[in-house]
Amino acid sequence: MAKVKCAWFDFASCEGCQIELTNYGEPFVELLEHVEPVEFREAMSEKTTEPIDVAFIEGSFTREADRRRLEEIRERAGVVVAYGACAASGGVNALKNHTDDYAEEVYGEDAKRPHLDSQKALPISAAIKVDYEIPGCPMDKAEFIRVVEQLVHGTSKVYIPSYPVCVECKRRETVCRYDDGDHCLGPISLAGCGAPCPADGIPCEACRGMVANPNEAAMELVLKENGNLPERWAKDKSRMFTANHRGDA
Ligand code: SF4
Ligand code: SF4
Ligand code: SF4
Repeated sequence: MAKVKCAWFDFASCEGCQIELTNYGEPFVELLEHVEPVEFREAMSEKTTEPIDVAFIEGSFTREADRRRLEEIRERAGVVVAYGACAASGGVNALKNHTDDYAEEVYGEDAKRPHLDSQKALPISAAIKVDYEIPGCPMDKAEFIRVVEQLVHGTSKVYIPSYPVCVECKRRETVCRYDDGDHCLGPISLAGCGAPCPADGIPCEACRGMVANPNEAAMELVLKENGNLPERWAKDKSRMFTANHRGDA
């Protein structure tokens, strides 16, 4: 069977999702038995302008100048997968959508340099048709491999759970962060990661985005009353990776 030609492209991102994959070791090597990478900036110097079977896109759409490049990728790719929170929802980059002076705050005098001239941070689907989205910051390696396996086998539907992280957390019998006087966004966060953060004593911060119809008002109240967080911080905590779902500032 011919190998599936795949290319990895990056836009506004830290490229952590690419690195996560190259660091995965054996499962990624095994994937190469079925997949032929033809472009992958963190792993090879070759580039391609040929048609490709699957394009994996990392990073958010933050510059109108990137639209043509995205359209060109779409034109020659059979399937487009936006992977990682930046590409799937805007991710942490979307925090800037709620403030006007982020560039000055972060870059000081360099803020006016041309490459920092950007628009709102949007998901890739704001510019082109995306076939599948893999959430997470970074994306979950095992989930990524599973999605690729499904694509290689010609599936038309990729499974991403729809229940909250608390379900996976309870399954592994982790002590709840709230029982330790801490805070956690597990009740409104989309599962699929296996709840590794609470298991390591770290609050979930919804890096995979939120479940459908999350009760954000109740979550903010719980954060404030049980997580010992000031009101403003409680509000900000629940928007770190989900700013594009939120209209308020
Ligand atoms: S999703 Fe997170 S790890 Fe992946 S590129 Fe964006 S910021 Fe980096
Ligand atoms: S630690 Fe977080 S994810 Fe786990 S049960 Fe408590 S609130 Fe839910
Ligand atoms: S537990 Fe929460 S923050 Fe941690 S990987 Fe899962 S969704 Fe992301």
